[in-house]
Amino acid sequence: MPFSHLNDSLKLLSEKNLYRSRRVIDSAQGTEIIIDGKKILNFCSNDYLGLANHPQVIAAFKQAVDKYGVGSGSAHLICGHSTAHHALEEELAAFTQRERALLFSTGYMANMGVISALVGKGDSVLEDKLNHASLLDGGLLSGATFKRYLHGDDENLDLKLKTCTGKTLIVSDGVFSMDGDLAPLPELITVANQQQAGLMIDDAHGFGVLGKTGGGVVEYFACNQNDVPILVGTFGKSFGTAGAFVAGSEELIEFLIQKSRPFIYTTAMPAAIAQATRASLELVIKENWRREKLTALVQQFRQGATQLGLKLMDSQTPIQPIMCGDSQQAVQLSQNLFQQGFLVSAIRPPTVPQGKARLRFTFSANHTDADVVLLLQALEKIIS
Ligand SMILES: *Cc1c(COP(=O)(O)O)cnc(C)c1O
Repeated sequence: MPFSHLNDSLKLLSEKNLYRSRRVIDSAQGTEIIIDGKKILNFCSNDYLGLANHPQVIAAFKQAVDKYGVGSGSAHLICGHSTAHHALEEELAAFTQRERALLFSTGYMANMGVISALVGKGDSVLEDKLNHASLLDGGLLSGATFKRYLHGDDENLDLKLKTCTGKTLIVSDGVFSMDGDLAPLPELITVANQQQAGLMIDDAHGFGVLGKTGGGVVEYFACNQNDVPILVGTFGKSFGTAGAFVAGSEELIEFLIQKSRPFIYTTAMPAAIAQATRASLELVIKENWRREKLTALVQQFRQGATQLGLKLMDSQTPIQPIMCGDSQQAVQLSQNLFQQGFLVSAIRPPTVPQGKARLRFTFSANHTDADVVLLLQALEKIIS
């Protein structure tokens, strides 16, 4: 029988506490969601700025549906590229201070599409060990020689770069999705320039959260298009919608339009999503109070968790992991919190390395101080 291993494989996952299942959410995204008819306080969403259910974003979406309908009809290169898509690309170019921007249907596809278009057989791709799965998969798909350097370690990167052949692309998360720390951008830029390598930053978790106007890690470190020539962002996190973009030079974008298969061979995102994202971009730029609120909530959580003797990681972003190590312990803590009415996800291998299972708390500008107090009280109950 082909595929007779499926059952064994599932059993094994279960024995190792690595089995994953989905919770069914019966409400809009928010700090409070409904699961099995019960109100749950949500501490695991990437909707950092609280825009996924924002009235202005919803209104823009509804108006656009009236004009464009729902489906986009085809790929961008056929007849799926609307004025809404086009305007969003222009606004993203201005927002990131890049010459052009190009939309992709998801961040996963953007990463696959950019890396595999830029390097191939005979080239090299060098990735941070803790990069997001989509970046690793993009590197593997490209057919280039694939190497990983130690997390955030520019000296190790420099060493590995010297062994690379062909065109070389350095790839890193801007904010690391499971740890919450920042890539050492100034150091990566120096190494890339010294060794004439390309540099690609995926700032899925930095946009909206970092920088004065939410411009992410490149705004935080004041890096221009020459410093970081290939910049990826996604809309499913701070922007509260769905989809992704790449920003860079005129030539980069034109080249991707011609060559990037995950751009070419897929249906354009619905125009209404693009229009909703334009509304959220406005809020991202304008409403700095959302970032200030996040910073305050994160500080409140870190202070409280430290007082409880919990082991925090070196993160100042809304991603606040608490290390457990053991998968079973992470799952048990998550289940215990759920019984008390809190949703916090247990992150286990292979999302993180073996022995690095953790609870990953995330915060939203829509959380209140009182929400964080309740969360800390629940944690105290568990560990006492
Ligand atoms: C979420 C995420 C992606 C994937 O983006 P989607 O639009 O959800 O496919 C890519 N890179 C990083 C770093 C992410 O966190």
